[in-house]
Amino acid sequence: MTIAKALTIAGSDSGGGAGIQADLKTFQELGVYGMSALTAATAQNTLGVQGVFPLTPEAVARQLDSIGKDLTPDAVKTGMLFSADIIEAIADRIAHYGWGNLVIDPVMVAKGGASLLKADAVTTLIRDLFPLALIITPNLPEAEMLTGMQLYKAEDIREAARRIHNMGPDMVIMKGGHAGGELARDLLYDGTGFTVFESLRIRTEATHGTGCTYSAAITAGLASGLSAIEAVRVAKDFIQAAIEDSLGIGSGHGPTNHFA
Ligand code: PLP
Repeated sequence: MTIAKALTIAGSDSGGGAGIQADLKTFQELGVYGMSALTAATAQNTLGVQGVFPLTPEAVARQLDSIGKDLTPDAVKTGMLFSADIIEAIADRIAHYGWGNLVIDPVMVAKGGASLLKADAVTTLIRDLFPLALIITPNLPEAEMLTGMQLYKAEDIREAARRIHNMGPDMVIMKGGHAGGELARDLLYDGTGFTVFESLRIRTEATHGTGCTYSAAITAGLASGLSAIEAVRVAKDFIQAAIEDSLGIGSGHGPTNHFA
């Protein structure tokens, strides 16, 4: 039996709702074999992030070498990368092994405010990793950080997508979850046109791990051979169901539900 294989390069959430745990659960639910290279451990639960403990760039590179020398991923995603030197090590290894179908979730700040990417690492992320990407998946605060724009109006969001596309990826998905309104509207820009993905907004506080889960679902679709548009469509349905059925566990922001 051949099975599609997906790799996540990301941080650990000890509470299991976001990060590498969310990614692996999502891969599994979508029928894809999951692999992981850890960048940092976080001490974390539904109340927030209590500690961040990065690995050395060498430890990250060595994990990628172990995977690269034995198990070729069909698609790869990155999540929490934490520092410029870890990003450099990852970009170097991805280029070395020629891994395609790269989805970059430009994780910067957790919902509770904890920093998951050092401020001085943003330029390295853009310079070294964005040109290798098939898709970048910023939410609106991340898109603002990347472009220096303030994103309130629809036309500004489209302009920000163009600017992020100019940073090197084949495609950009501007996630609309942080905007107001009855619909959660995501925009996929491929350098020529926009494709809109809409769902009814669900009013809930239990959204921990939504970004990780969404980008992992896109990665699983790509690993399975779907086109980018098909992968986003499947991922949008998956994240909608995951938020609808989010789990009332913990006393803070509960995690989304990863069962398909
Ligand atoms: N912790 C880790 C390790 C993550 O990778 C992420 C994801 O982006 C988060 C926390 C953020 O979680 P939240 O959805 O609560 O912002």
